[in-house]
Amino acid sequence: MDNCLFCKIIAGEIPSTKVFENEYVLAFRDINPQAPVHVLVVPKAHIPCMDAVNAENSVYVSKCFEAVAEIAAAEGLGSGYRVICNCGEDGGQTVMHLHFHLLGGVKLGEKML
Ligand code: AMP
Ligand code: ZN
Repeated sequence: MDNCLFCKIIAGEIPSTKVFENEYVLAFRDINPQAPVHVLVVPKAHIPCMDAVNAENSVYVSKCFEAVAEIAAAEGLGSGYRVICNCGEDGGQTVMHLHFHLLGGVKLGEKML
């Protein structure tokens, strides 16, 4: 997808600090972390937002969640973490390529992001 920041990161056109990658998923550190661990878990298909998830592309979503468990363990988040997905303008989504924020490394308050 032209002009999509996360598609460009997936294509290696924009650098990122990669923490996990497989055929379906790329995960990298958020450039503006809101917690000691703040990783973005991103499907390697241009799904614009949660609204666009369907039976044809949902394998990418399940692969993201499988990756979350693996990344959380690798990042030492055994005592807990939070996963957030912002959708659309009112949800606070700024990058229109589906992604899951994995936050941890501190006892999180009620509000985050
Ligand atoms: P959202 O507001 O849910 O769309 O989240 C977008 C996230 O992408 C924000 O937390 C940004 O800090 C993060 N972000 C934007 N540009 C980059 C980048 N080049 N590398 C890593 N994270 C980024
Ligand atoms: Zn994209």
